[in-house]
Amino acid sequence: MSLAGQLYKLQQLDLELQRNQQELNEVENQLIDNKALAVAESKAASQKEQLEDAKRKQRSSEWELEDTQEKIRQIDSKLYSGKTKDPKELVNLEKEAKGLKSQIRTKEDALLGLMSQVEEIEAKVKTTTEELERLRREWEQRQETFRPRKGEIETMLAKLRGNRNGLSQQIDSEAFNIYERIRLTMGQAVVKVERGRCLGCHITVPTSQWQKAKAGDLIQCNNCSRILYLE
Ligand SMILES: [Zn+2]
Repeated sequence: MSLAGQLYKLQQLDLELQRNQQELNEVENQLIDNKALAVAESKAASQKEQLEDAKRKQRSSEWELEDTQEKIRQIDSKLYSGKTKDPKELVNLEKEAKGLKSQIRTKEDALLGLMSQVEEIEAKVKTTTEELERLRREWEQRQETFRPRKGEIETMLAKLRGNRNGLSQQIDSEAFNIYERIRLTMGQAVVKVERGRCLGCHITVPTSQWQKAKAGDLIQCNNCSRILYLE
């Protein structure tokens, strides 16, 4: 195989390596990307906190209401048991009972409001939990799909690197360095000549040049410096 032919083959390996490396990066991104899941998890956590808070408020509202009802019961029993005889005290007790009874309605309304708040948040928690489960399943599925793919690509990359090492050891070191230098600046270092034109820059290559390249000499395009390759 001509030197240009070897370099062309090396370039094909490099392109293949690049493609695989790129796919590996994408696969790794898929495997670590859990943004949606993290967002849903923190949303679920904050809604659960809201729910706990609303339930606490509901309980304390219930206790407050029971407390008021109990006070009314105690006053009523004093009023109607006949044990309290003092008219002044009876008037005071009646007044107190009236005041407490007027609070009951307000407290009941407050409790109803809190109960419906709890229900509302419970519905939200349910929706978020379902969403979270869906995202977790999706995440697991993604792991199942991409983990083996990652292994395949890594195996392929190791094989390609081995091939590249083997091939580069066969190539003249000066030519190899030229190839690496051009590759670094231009991406593609070896180009074919077709219908007398360099496929890197599309400028016509002098006949003598491409003939030398075809004969196996290492010839670079006068215009773009890429290594010319003719089969
Ligand atoms: Zn050129």
